[in-house]
Amino acid sequence: MDHKAALVLFSGGQDSTTCLFWALKHFTRVETVCFRYGQRHEPEIEAARAIAAIAGVPFRMIDASLIAGLSRNSLTDASVEMDREQTGEAPPNTFVPGRNLLFISMAAIVARERNIANIITGVSQADYSGYPDCRDSFIRSLRETLNLAMDEQFVIHTPLMWLDKASVWQLAGELGVFELVKNRTVTCYNGIPGNGCGECPSCKLRRCGLEQYESKMD
Ligand code: ZN
Repeated sequence: MDHKAALVLFSGGQDSTTCLFWALKHFTRVETVCFRYGQRHEPEIEAARAIAAIAGVPFRMIDASLIAGLSRNSLTDASVEMDREQTGEAPPNTFVPGRNLLFISMAAIVARERNIANIITGVSQADYSGYPDCRDSFIRSLRETLNLAMDEQFVIHTPLMWLDKASVWQLAGELGVFELVKNRTVTCYNGIPGNGCGECPSCKLRRCGLEQYESKMD
């Protein structure tokens, strides 16, 4: 295994784009893997492809559309009205059950094939929107499981785990890619690049963090 190589789970959004440039700073060989799993994400995939080209890293897309048929959620099923925010204890209906479990597992298989020891994902417990598979305990557990499953020594890096959205913008600034992240990424659940639709929960979270970051800069 090449311990200086990293595979980034890359969606073309703010978080994974910041992770990609973080990876380029810390590893000598960086590759990306992107999952297609719902039509709502097509613009995001195009953004991911373009950003990977700008970064000069290999871009691999995996068809994970089977996940859309396994559960009824508003992210992959346009007939489900999207929760505006989390109400009560249950995750919002934008939660796709098992998504990170399956995606990180598939990424590990690719990483093994590519002789890559490090796997990087942009999950965050600080801004996890009620998604249980963004928590640190889950990632540590999955790392152990994957290493047992494949008899490998993968390391899963989560550079955003304890960062709120304002701090993720700050990290992009420190990495010299603030403008690229602001203008080229797609975070919006409705697939609109840059500042997005402004209305969906993801846009609100993004804008709130950006305003916090910019007010700190003034
Ligand atoms: Zn939006």
